[in-house]
Formats: sequence, C-alpha cells, structure tokens
Amino acid sequence: MNLKHKKESTKGYKYGRKKSLLLPKHCQACGIKYDEDNPHEMRTNHHIWVQRHFHGEGPVEILCQDCHTELDSRIPQRHKLKTKEYQKYFDDFIEEKNKEAKA
Ligand SMILES: [Zn+2]
Repeated sequence: MNLKHKKESTKGYKYGRKKSLLLPKHCQACGIKYDEDNPHEMRTNHHIWVQRHFHGEGPVEILCQDCHTELDSRIPQRHKLKTKEYQKYFDDFIEEKNKEAKA
C-alpha cells in the first residue's frame, strides 16, 4: 500500500513538470503573446477532431481564444468528416495565420 502511494506521487510530479515546460508562450497561429489576464489572449485547448462527434478523443492543440473561435467557425459542425480532413482544416488555418502574422 505504501509502495503504491509512492509510485503515484512520483508519476504526478513528473507529469506536472513536463506539462509546464510544454506550455507555449505565443499562439502558434497568430503569434499573439499569451496573457493570463486577458481572456482573448489565453490558451485554449482545441480538439482537432470536433468534440461533437469524437467526444474529446484525438489530438489537442493549444490556440488563443480568437484563433480557436475563428477555426471552429470554418469547420462543418453537423456533418462528420474524416479525421484527416479535420487535421487539414487545422494545418491550413495555421499556415494561413502564420502568413498573415508575417505580412
Ligand atoms: Zn491566435
């Protein structure tokens, strides 16, 4: 019982550390700097495979609130697409936003 407790706490520590190291400072699409005090410049979890059809399964990417809203508005909500097509929506969006940010 003691051993089990020890194992779990070590695992939790490692995970927490790794997660914080991976947290991006800028939006990967528009490049905006994340600001915890501004809701439009906060990190959001975007489910590449829409949750309506996949219920939280599949890859998750971090985007700012504005990009998240814009990307969601492009994806068909009623019709279920192939997972590859959702990935393409995401990749195209990132590419387009990166170009805009540089221009
Ligand atoms: Zn953004």
